[in-house]
Formats: sequence, C-alpha cells, structure tokens
Amino acid sequence: MKGTNKQLKLILVSTPIGFLGSGKGGGVELTIISLMKGLISLGHKIILVAPKGSKVPFESENLEIRLIDGIDQPSWQHQKKTDPVLIPSNSVLPKLWEIVINLASQYDAVINFAYDWLPLWLTKTQRIKIFHLISMGNESLVMKEIITEISQLFPFQLAFHTKRQSKDYLLNIDPIIVGNGFDMENYVFNQNQNGPLGWAGRIAPEKGLEDAVKVANYLDEKLLVWGLMEDNEYATEIENKFGKGIVDWKGFLPTNEFQKQLGKCRAFINTPKWNEAYGNVIVEAMACGVPVIAYDLGGPGELIEDGYNGFLVQPNDIEGMIKAIQSVSKIKRRNCRDWFESKASNEVFAKRVESWINKGLNKNLLTDLPR
Ligand code: UDP
Repeated sequence: MKGTNKQLKLILVSTPIGFLGSGKGGGVELTIISLMKGLISLGHKIILVAPKGSKVPFESENLEIRLIDGIDQPSWQHQKKTDPVLIPSNSVLPKLWEIVINLASQYDAVINFAYDWLPLWLTKTQRIKIFHLISMGNESLVMKEIITEISQLFPFQLAFHTKRQSKDYLLNIDPIIVGNGFDMENYVFNQNQNGPLGWAGRIAPEKGLEDAVKVANYLDEKLLVWGLMEDNEYATEIENKFGKGIVDWKGFLPTNEFQKQLGKCRAFINTPKWNEAYGNVIVEAMACGVPVIAYDLGGPGELIEDGYNGFLVQPNDIEGMIKAIQSVSKIKRRNCRDWFESKASNEVFAKRVESWINKGLNKNLLTDLPR
C-alpha cells in the first residue's frame, strides 16, 4: 500500500435521501464516490452500505458494496427549523444502520455521510467509532442539538467541509475541516473564454437560481442551467417572471457530460441563499477552467480567491454580480484549474480524511478532551 499508515478497514454509509446516481443526495453523492476512490488508492479497504439502485463507477478488490432496499428519508433543508425527526414506514435509514451494527466487529471505523439524527445518536451506543462528515449548515434545531452533544462527547469524530459551515454549530474543539475532493481525470481543462453563462445546482429556492436569471436577463443573455429538478413550482415561477427562453434547461447529467458542457462557459454563477456547506459545482467549474462568480456566503467564500479564480460578491448584490461578470476576462482560466489541482483533488481530500480518522481512532477522550 501507498504511504506508511496501516490499512484501515472502513464502513462507509451513504446518504439515505436517494440512491447514489439519483442526484437527490446532492453533492454528497459525488463526495462519497471520490472519497472511496481516494481512500482505496491510499490502500484502505472499504465496504459501502448504500440504498438500493446506487451505482459506483469503478471496481476494486478493496471495495465491497451492500445495497439496501427501503423508503428514502426526507431531506432536512426542506423542513421547518423546529420540525421533529421523521422516519417513514419501511425507511432505508434504520436498515442501513442495522447492517452497520452487524458488521461493526470486523471493521476499524464507520464514516457516516447522512445528515440525519439516527446515525449521530447511535454514536453514543456503539463500541466502534462512528465518524460523521457533516454535509450541511444548520437547518434544524434537533440536528443542531445532537451535533452539539456529539461534539461534547466525541469531538474528534466530527468533520466539516468548510470553516464557515462549521460555525453554524456549537463545537467543543476547533472544527476539523476536510474540504472536499474530485477525481482530476474526470474534468478536462477548457481554454475557451467566449462561451455562455452557466449555473448548476438542485433547482430549489435555497440555491437562488432566480438571482442568476436576473443577472442573465440584465445582460440580455441566455443562462445555461444544469441540475436536478427538485422544485417544479419554483422553476415555473422563474419562467413566468423572466420569460420562457431565458433559461436553457440542460437537465441532470452524468459527470462526464456535465463537465464537457460546463467547460464551455466563460463564467459560472453561484447564488446561494443559505449557508452553503461547500458547493461542489463551484469546484467542478474551476476544474474545467471556468472562473466562478459567487455570493460570499458559506463555502464559496473559502473556495474562491477573489481576483484569482473568480470573484466574490456580497449576497443578493445583483449589480455587483453583473459588474463581476463584465470583468471576468481578467481571471486566467489556468488559475482555476491550478487551484482545483492543488486544493481539491480526491487524493488530497482522501489524505485529509485519513488523517482525521487516524487522529480520532488514537484519541483517548479521558486525557485529550479540553476541560
Ligand atoms: N450535478 C450533476 N449533474 C448535473 C448537475 C449537477 O451530477 O447536471 C451534481 C454535481 O456534480 C454536484 C451536485 O450535483 O456534485 C450538486 O452539489 P452541490 O454541492 O453543488 O450542492 P448540494 O446539492 O449538495 O446542495
């Protein structure tokens, strides 16, 4: 195996919001796939426990997959802050964790990707250490409470994508930040500076598509939009307001096709209305050489170096967004790719996660916890 660390036997538990490849799980889906590839290339052994239908685009003798049938969990970002934990009848979530509990004695650690209450709570009950890569900012009171509690009891078992995301939570130690990672081979650098404007993400209000459309409308241009149609009503509202032709709906594409189309853009617009935990699409655009102009809200603020690989604009500042797009040719497309290669390849991501897990496994809470 590469590196000097001992081989880890890891259980990875996928998101219960939808199967891998459905797009319903958002950025987490790609995070899991990239991380598995990265960890395997570091020599670790993985069993993936995931909802039935999940697809993994590579094979390895160090990867086993267990697929579980059941009903999807509702996602927290579309519930009210005070809503209780919801587990539907025949839910896939407890079934995934039943498998984990049965397998636990043969493995070193579990990495959980579900932003949900049950896996966090189970951390208190199991002998095996359960690590959680928290994938969202705070969207719910009950989630904030359990994350706070786990941070008190097992602080080294929580990690976040960005510092700003972690600030939504009350933590017992300085947050462990692991960023995110993408398979470099999957993204081709594109030199073309004269393409259209692009936007990508789940079509849902927290992603703020309407602001990007406003900008395109002002510039009298079409906006190319990729992503899963999560909220039809929201999309119709946008079309009613700005006219049918302004958005060129490209649908939800597999990474290979998505990056090919994305690479042709001269600028990528990102307009979140929530504390974006990371923003995969931002980094995917940069991987193709596309400068990103984003609201300075959550993750984007830690991915974009203003004036180097894009521009940051104050949230909701449409005028600022327009001005930034007008000066986008000042950004060297090569910078965007360089940033991606040095900060967000799946290799560097897997190394950060490996070091988090090793640190967590070696911690003796009685002596290491701050008092
Ligand atoms: N995506 C995709 N095909 C598309 C558009 C988007 O596979 O046509 C994926 C993209 O690769 C990214 C995810 O959708 O991984 C969106 O994740 P992001 O972190 O940007 O936002 P989230 O949905 O997690 O809030």
